[in-house]
Amino acid sequence: MNQLDVAALRRDFPVLDRTIYGKPLIYLDNTATSQTPSCVVDTIRDIYFHTKANVHRGVHTMSQEMTAMQEATRERVRQMLNAESTSEIIFTRGTTEAINLVASSMGDSFVDGDEVIVTVMEHHANIVPWQLLSRNKRVTLRVVPMDERGVLDLEAYRSLFNSHTRMVAVTHVSNVLGTVNPVKEMIAEAHRHDVPVLVDGAQAVAHMAVDVRDLDCDFYVFSSHKMYGPTGVGVLYGKRSLLEMMPPYQGGGEMIANVTFEHTTFAELPFKFEAGTPDFVGIAALHTAIDYMQGIGIDAIAAHEHDLLQYTTERMADIPGMRIFGTAPGKSAVISFLIGDAHHYDTGLLLDKLGIAVRTGHHCAQPLMHALGIEGTVRASFALYNTREEADTFIAALKRVAAMLQ
Ligand code: PMP
Repeated sequence: MNQLDVAALRRDFPVLDRTIYGKPLIYLDNTATSQTPSCVVDTIRDIYFHTKANVHRGVHTMSQEMTAMQEATRERVRQMLNAESTSEIIFTRGTTEAINLVASSMGDSFVDGDEVIVTVMEHHANIVPWQLLSRNKRVTLRVVPMDERGVLDLEAYRSLFNSHTRMVAVTHVSNVLGTVNPVKEMIAEAHRHDVPVLVDGAQAVAHMAVDVRDLDCDFYVFSSHKMYGPTGVGVLYGKRSLLEMMPPYQGGGEMIANVTFEHTTFAELPFKFEAGTPDFVGIAALHTAIDYMQGIGIDAIAAHEHDLLQYTTERMADIPGMRIFGTAPGKSAVISFLIGDAHHYDTGLLLDKLGIAVRTGHHCAQPLMHALGIEGTVRASFALYNTREEADTFIAALKRVAAMLQ
């Protein structure tokens, strides 16, 4: 496998030249959002300077060019996910909107007493949209527990299915623990009960190859901004047979076939679910981000991140009082931790003074924090541009912080 030329790749990310409090920035908040390479920003800039025109409406050249760019991204995403057809690729504002779309539209046919299976490690984005269904009917969440490593209890999962189960909604990779869940196995089990599965891929797509046909998932969702792409764009993959049956999520322009004051007929897939002007500039730039990532090679990125994870985790273990949350085998490059009784916020603040950007708090996973018996953690997460030298500086900083706070 190719080794990454990280020094060269870092030059693609001008933000990495920044200093914070006079120290070189060490950006370890990649789980929240990754940084953006120049080529993606260049695409945005070029469109604003040369091609910006609304999609799907105009006969004029620029509108047609812009439409072609948007639809080329749809095809690029289809290839990336190995989906069968571009009509199964719907652009949204992000993972959150994609899950809300599915919950709202699928939930339309739910009745009182129906159940949705989620896991203890879901992001709020994969909890709250399902809970909102309870405004109109009684929908209960059934929760898959995990062990102390952060590995889901599949026995318990199997026992949660009953005649009321309507959906399984599971994260591919935990944004707190880094656990890579056995989604393929979970999907096969759900399908034995004729239950569809939504996989939240927000933390997966930048770190591993995803094949929706191999997984056989019914829905797969992710955000562009976590995979070196622009903000404001997300993707919903859905199996055509389900998307065809589902009612639209929002109404407006672009998603209709015919409108009168009495009645509206809807556009074909995927446009039925794309009401209003999409972020066509962002969508075009997502194409550049996918090309960038795949040009480097997702397996090479994963190997590099895994090396950093192992290198850093081993050295963190030597720090007195270090508690790491999430030790599942094969985990993704996310390290959640606390140092003794030191508050996560204090640790994060001190690290920031040393130029190191980490995330602190509950990471939009309060039920998981509750299960762990804590209020929050400090979270460091790696991307393709992080280095062992940065890991060394991070470890040295943690030692200083540990000495100060304990
Ligand atoms: N799910 C997971 C696992 C996430 O990590 C995130 C982002 N932190 C989301 C969903 C929500 O993504 P977005 O805010 O881009 O919609």
